[in-house]
Amino acid sequence: MAYLALYRKWRPTVFTEVIGQKHIAIPLERALSEGRLAHAYLFSGPRGTGKTSMARILAKAVNCLSPDGVNPCNHCQNCQDINNGASLDVYEIDAASNRGIDDIRALRDSVRTLPASSKKKVYIIDEVHMLSKEAFNALLKTLEEPPAHVLFILATTDPQKIPVTILSRCQSYEFHRISTADISEHLMHVASETGFSLDKEAADLIAIKAEGGLRDALSMLDKCFSSISSREVTASLVYDILGLTEKKDLIQLADYIFSHEKGKTLTVFYDLLSQGKDALSILAELQSYFRDIMIYKINPQADELISYGNELPLLKKAAESVDSDYLDMLFSELAHIYQEAKTSSSVRMSAEMGLLRLSRYDSSMTIPMLARRIKELESRLESRLEGTPVVRAAPASKPAPAAPSAPVAPVSHREPEPVTTPASPVPPPVHSPKTLEVSPVSSSPQQVTASAHAVAAAESPSASDEAANSDLLAPSSYPGIWQGILDYVMKKPRIDVYSCFQKGKLIYAGKNRAIISVPQQFLVLAGNNKSYQKVISDAFKALTGTAYIPKTVLAGTGEEAEALAMAASNPSEPAKAASQEVSTKKEEYRKISKSEIPEKDKEEHALSEALKFIPDCDIYEKIDD
Ligand SMILES: [Zn+2]
Repeated sequence: MAYLALYRKWRPTVFTEVIGQKHIAIPLERALSEGRLAHAYLFSGPRGTGKTSMARILAKAVNCLSPDGVNPCNHCQNCQDINNGASLDVYEIDAASNRGIDDIRALRDSVRTLPASSKKKVYIIDEVHMLSKEAFNALLKTLEEPPAHVLFILATTDPQKIPVTILSRCQSYEFHRISTADISEHLMHVASETGFSLDKEAADLIAIKAEGGLRDALSMLDKCFSSISSREVTASLVYDILGLTEKKDLIQLADYIFSHEKGKTLTVFYDLLSQGKDALSILAELQSYFRDIMIYKINPQADELISYGNELPLLKKAAESVDSDYLDMLFSELAHIYQEAKTSSSVRMSAEMGLLRLSRYDSSMTIPMLARRIKELESRLESRLEGTPVVRAAPASKPAPAAPSAPVAPVSHREPEPVTTPASPVPPPVHSPKTLEVSPVSSSPQQVTASAHAVAAAESPSASDEAANSDLLAPSSYPGIWQGILDYVMKKPRIDVYSCFQKGKLIYAGKNRAIISVPQQFLVLAGNNKSYQKVISDAFKALTGTAYIPKTVLAGTGEEAEALAMAASNPSEPAKAASQEVSTKKEEYRKISKSEIPEKDKEEHALSEALKFIPDCDIYEKIDD
């Protein structure tokens, strides 16, 4: 007698034998016993979960000549014909290969005739979602007015693809994946009935691998039975026959990845390859192991974990020591690696490289960790900016110590330099560094934005020397940048340049030039002095990465209007911000007249220079607390 595959031999023959689908068997039995059978059913669910078996049992149940309650007897002629596929009244149609309209038309014609020897003609259409649109329409007509002697049973793994018009005419039942425990138990039963001994661990392994499909599980068991000469199926045999990687090897491989031991990671991988394992399945099983660790973290009793058997403590250890975010990252990275390897011309090489990559990752590279690091960097960057001459924050509790326009600095050397070289560097001030600090500006959002903008520009290699249009700064950033420039100049220290520009406004920056408007004509002359331009240009370079060449224009003139118009045409935003006031803290300073300058300070070089060059500049005295 020809060998009958286990899944066919063990196909359920009555409702109660269908494993894991009681929620369908019971209502069907009830409908049969009460004579309320629908004329069309839709069975949906994953492959190998018993849809076709249930359909056949139903077909037999309606046609059985001597039913046992509602269950078919499986002995009468009708039952035997159906079991042997020889019934003239039960049609099994595979929609995957008979999907055209002609097939359905033939079915429609056949529906009209009475059954040959049974009560009902039963049409079991498998994978019904594969039918063409026209075929569905033809089928719909039949389902709308079915003859009383016809029963339709549609089966599908993909109910989403079935038109609603069809669905609405069927009574639907959804088949569940069968639990690992149910499959495992059934395998043990089948093995013992077949005269084999099957380890519990081996049965669990097969059950898990089958992912809820009993037919697949039975096929795997069949493969094990036919691969051995003895009648004992052990776990290690299952690993071998199904090409699975043993848990202990997977755990070892993962441990080396967790501890970033690249050499050992590859060694385990090569060992597994030499045992005949396939590189792709090693990756897939490693991924399952990562998943299992996550499952253990959530539910240590989960059904899926039974296959770990003696290795369960190792899984527990991993679950307790490996961070979830890190595991998450490894899991998704491994999914990429698997896809890469799958389509690669060298699976082995891609898998090797992928494993190396995995073993380089550590928990500090997870998204939440990266987010924390970015936050830290941001705050460091912020404080760095605040620490540079660009923008300096004084502690909030202290009064701002800046000396914006005060003609500062008593200086050590007395030789006055010729007035004709006003732009020569001012000698170092004797002021303590503290007196040169300027008021806190970093706390305003506008300033922070400007700083960020400046840094972004400074970091971009293209920002400085290229295409004139790429250096357009957004007008809204002008006040912040200009304040940064003034702070930079003050810190330099170029008090003379500061004094000249402190009442100025940046009104345009782009195409390598910056336009600054000042309120008085003499400031225009000073501002356009080459040496002053150089200082401002350097300040721009330091802040934005672009050495804009400044041009100073008089406020209220056509030149200013032209510059404002240019800024306004900046595509990124309107120029309204350019006219915003630059906030400089002057509250701690008092404006004084020249006559109020103490005699000793009048002697100071920088002050006398500034007074010579800008005779009518504003003079501020710092107010002592
Ligand atoms: Zn029967």
